[in-house]
Amino acid sequence: MKYNINWDMDSVFPGGSTSPQLQKKLDTMEKQLTTFSDNVSHWNWQQDSPTYTEFAAILELQEILSFGLSEAATFIRGLISADETDKQAGAVYGKIMEIRSSFSTILTILTKKTVAVPNKEWKNLLSQAPFSEVRFVLDEDRTAGKDLLSEEEEALINSLSLDGFDGWGDHYNTIVSTIEIPFEEKDGSKTLLSAGQAQNKMGSDPDDAVRQQIFAEWEKAWSEKSSLFSDTLNHLAGFRLTNYKLHGVTDFMKRPLEYNRMTEATLDTMWQTINKNKQPIVDYLNRKAALLGKEKLSWVDIEAPILLGDYQPQRYPFDEGADFIVANFRKFSSKMADFAQHAFDNSWIEAENRSGKRPGGYCANLPESGESRIFMTYAESPNEVSTLAHELGHAFHSHVMRDLPALNRGYAMNVAETASTFAELVISDATVQEAQSEEERINLLDNKIQRSATMFMNIQARFLFESRFYEERKKGIVTENRLNELMEAAQKEAFEDSLSSYHPTFWASKLHFFNTGVPFYNFPYTFGYLFSMGIYAKSIEQGSDFEEQYIALLKDTGSMTTENLALKHLNVDLTQPDFWQHGINLIHQDIQTFMDITQKYIN
Ligand SMILES: [Zn+2]
Repeated sequence: MKYNINWDMDSVFPGGSTSPQLQKKLDTMEKQLTTFSDNVSHWNWQQDSPTYTEFAAILELQEILSFGLSEAATFIRGLISADETDKQAGAVYGKIMEIRSSFSTILTILTKKTVAVPNKEWKNLLSQAPFSEVRFVLDEDRTAGKDLLSEEEEALINSLSLDGFDGWGDHYNTIVSTIEIPFEEKDGSKTLLSAGQAQNKMGSDPDDAVRQQIFAEWEKAWSEKSSLFSDTLNHLAGFRLTNYKLHGVTDFMKRPLEYNRMTEATLDTMWQTINKNKQPIVDYLNRKAALLGKEKLSWVDIEAPILLGDYQPQRYPFDEGADFIVANFRKFSSKMADFAQHAFDNSWIEAENRSGKRPGGYCANLPESGESRIFMTYAESPNEVSTLAHELGHAFHSHVMRDLPALNRGYAMNVAETASTFAELVISDATVQEAQSEEERINLLDNKIQRSATMFMNIQARFLFESRFYEERKKGIVTENRLNELMEAAQKEAFEDSLSSYHPTFWASKLHFFNTGVPFYNFPYTFGYLFSMGIYAKSIEQGSDFEEQYIALLKDTGSMTTENLALKHLNVDLTQPDFWQHGINLIHQDIQTFMDITQKYIN
């Protein structure tokens, strides 16, 4: 094998969760935290004005601490993801969360102090170096700071979050690690699959019987523990809603929209434009059902491969998948290709298909090392090549921002999914173009359109579910049965009733609903997908000239509103349907091709 399928974590901190270097790092951060706390509590804008040298020093130490925390957290979360039995890693993670919580308490104090700076004086501060470079973020933070309670109250909420809010988030992972899906092979032998393994097989196995068997066991496994998941979800949302209320926030969409630095008008326009354009997707789903010999698709058929004639599903051993990605990134951007090659050569990716790993995939940043790490379970399907490309897109995004101040690197979730989806599009288009036969072309085109169906329907269902759940949660606990009902209704609505079965316990099995970092971790995917579509269309028009423009856009993702980012780099207005329709039209073209070339296979 050319590339390592296990990531190298020893180069970050040698020795795993008992690493002495990591322990030393945590000790250093605790000392830095004490200094930071002292400096912040002594800071007085009147004395620091007009040059603000103390404030500059505070921001410098803030950057050091935030990089250190990310470095340590990525490392330890990585160990937990790769080996769910590593209890020591869990303990160290708790320690890091404690430091992070104290850090966040001090930052709140700092924010409150900036709120006390008079507007005129604040403008003066922002106009000076080194603050002018990070003025958007400083100003955004100060504006949000106006909602804050007293220092003591904010500190109290932060410290209670640790065993409250964050504790529930960790609890979810503990329950998930106990999920086992029984599976009977064709020869009668029985195995237990982890949630991650089952998910891979359930989505991509070409054998309908295998998919249906796992899906039945899958629903059963999550149902059996649904009271635990329902408790967890209710308490997470309850904590969030109470916290909002304490800060005078009654609209639960306010914070998610703020996180994403976008307006409700933009979000509404996006969904409305999608809703007007669902018929072609429904036609595609119906055609796919016919090709699979069914009247309607079931929930687990959506991602199933279409295998016509004697075409066999394409397998991409890891090395081949990696080389394919690098070669196709290169057609668009040599910088992206060199970067991906570097990631493969230096073992940044945990890809092995084995039990004991957490399900799903993610990319996390190591700002001190200037590197990233990618976690996934790679089972050699074209879908996983796309996932790998997706995560490499995230890593590339961090990479182009590596020299920016920490404050300007915090991009929102919606634009966070832009580089990843873009990378995925490059790869899925490449696979379609290089198809060796019509059967292969159909298979790959389906793979690509399926993603649009996911973005427009599956993700929309998550958004509808979460909105309705929060609405009901405001009035009290939402029972597990009701959660199932809400989920199934949202899925039926989003899929326009085009499926024969739905996934009522999806609210329990989908990690994103339990994400403590970001609420509504759904609409940003659809946003990022269509946003990338627009960028991708431009890149095809402009060829290699677009590379620098693309990188410039990515670099700005952490320091302006989404609407301004689109205006500056793409010259479009996101509150109007045109931009969205333009991206959707590209998808319609793919669907039209799919309908044309599959016509002769149905009777
Ligand atoms: Zn992503």
